[in-house]
Amino acid sequence: MVGHWFQDAANFAMTYLGLAFLVLVAFMCWLLWKTMGMMPRTTPANLVHGSKSKTSWSDVAGVEEVRGELMEVVDFMRDPKRFERLGAKVPKGLLLYGPPGTGKTLLAKAVAYESGANFYSASASSFVEMFAGLGASRIRKLFAEARKNAPAIIFIDELDAVGAQRSGHGFNREQDQTLNQLLVELDGFEGAEQVVVMGASNRIQDLDPALLRPGRFDRQLLVPPPDLAGREAILRVHTRGKPLNLDDVDLATVARQTSGLTGAELANICNEAAIKAGRRSDVSISQADFDWALERVVAGLQQRKVLTEKERRILAYHEGGHALMGHLMGSVMELQKVTIVSRGNALGYAFYLPEEDRYLHTKEELVDRMIVALGGRAAEEVVFGRVTNGAANDLEKVTEIARSMVFEWGMSDTVTSRTMRADNYALSEASKRLRDEEQAHLTDGAYEEAVRLLRKHRAPLDRIAAALLEKETLVREELQALVEDVEPESSASETVGVPRVVASEPGELPA
Ligand code: ADP
Ligand code: MG
Ligand code: ZN
Repeated sequence: MVGHWFQDAANFAMTYLGLAFLVLVAFMCWLLWKTMGMMPRTTPANLVHGSKSKTSWSDVAGVEEVRGELMEVVDFMRDPKRFERLGAKVPKGLLLYGPPGTGKTLLAKAVAYESGANFYSASASSFVEMFAGLGASRIRKLFAEARKNAPAIIFIDELDAVGAQRSGHGFNREQDQTLNQLLVELDGFEGAEQVVVMGASNRIQDLDPALLRPGRFDRQLLVPPPDLAGREAILRVHTRGKPLNLDDVDLATVARQTSGLTGAELANICNEAAIKAGRRSDVSISQADFDWALERVVAGLQQRKVLTEKERRILAYHEGGHALMGHLMGSVMELQKVTIVSRGNALGYAFYLPEEDRYLHTKEELVDRMIVALGGRAAEEVVFGRVTNGAANDLEKVTEIARSMVFEWGMSDTVTSRTMRADNYALSEASKRLRDEEQAHLTDGAYEEAVRLLRKHRAPLDRIAAALLEKETLVREELQALVEDVEPESSASETVGVPRVVASEPGELPA
């Protein structure tokens, strides 16, 4: 009996153990199958086969400048002979860069559609996962296929995934191999080939410079967030075919309320508004739906990008201050464009160009440049009686100019004939104190001058700020019309030279 019982138990156990074992094996098979199944899935069908894009120019709005540049590619793809006859070299590699959601992917698709080319798209991040060597071979395949099926556009999204600067840490051999293969492919183009490579990246400053060399991604186009008119145009694109209650909905107002938002976020707002209307079982979308959607989308953003009306006003005066100072210091710099559309972490910026590149500057010119850079902060003080933290970048620039003037160029009032750099010479404590005082003297003097000038020219400042609030971006001609009657007051009577100068709020420099 006992023996029997024991044997039964043993049999029983064996059966179950065996079963458990089978289940385990089955599970592992499944896992393996799934892993293998993943491989083709991370290789999107259109990576190998290419596809015809269905996105046309009419689906893209608010990025006119970039579109204009891309037209050249389209023209080339349509009729390469026209360019070849002239011996013209059309860029083979274009890089679209800018914040996420501004329409980079969309633009690449539209270029493919408009030029009737096959569209090959791949995300660089899919090249660097999984198995060693796979990324490089995928790149090879992608380019080979595209060449075979020319005319073709190859679009490589998230270029930073392979092209981030080799910083030592966090960069592995696999990424290195993949990047090298990409460089090889880019270099392998021959003039007549109708293949254009477009890359996209959110952070051009992180890209390996090797990628940006001539012959590679040598044309770089910024795709910025849209300005007021651009936002309205994008809202129109995304409400096309949607039933709007036209007595009620005012897209211009929605555009005004969405300063700083990208195309993707605007598309999202249009969609949310439609959903909201649907939930009310209404037949058309009303302004209230847009208001609701706006709040919802803005609340969902990780970082608040929409400025309050008060902040917009401060920003308009800040940038207006730079712009007006730029005009008053006329001989020093030409203002090209001023905007209060946020970009990256820059809230707004004023963009200047010198008439030509020069390398020598007089003391007076440097002072003028400091005055322009401080024009933003000074305008805040003059208009609002208080200042914000929005001038960090300006202050840095001014400090740097003043430091160089005193420490290196002998341009302070009392130190005129020696450098004051402690790393070259042992400076006495008295000398160090003197140079710090001189530096402060220069920057404080420039600031006082900026405040004085803005008080004196308050009317044009108000005009510029009002125009900025209305249009958000002013180009040179528009600005000039606003300051026609204001005579420049530069202390630099004769210009010797000015380098490229850009005054911007904290964050990256405009291109
Ligand atoms: P990015 O590649 O710059 O991150 P995408 O091109 O992927 O941005 O944009 C995502 C979506 O947002 C698009 O499919 C489109 O619906 C919308 N969108 C973005 N920018 C624009 C634009 N300029 N015009 C129209 N729609 C846009
Ligand atoms: Mg994209
Ligand atoms: Zn500023």
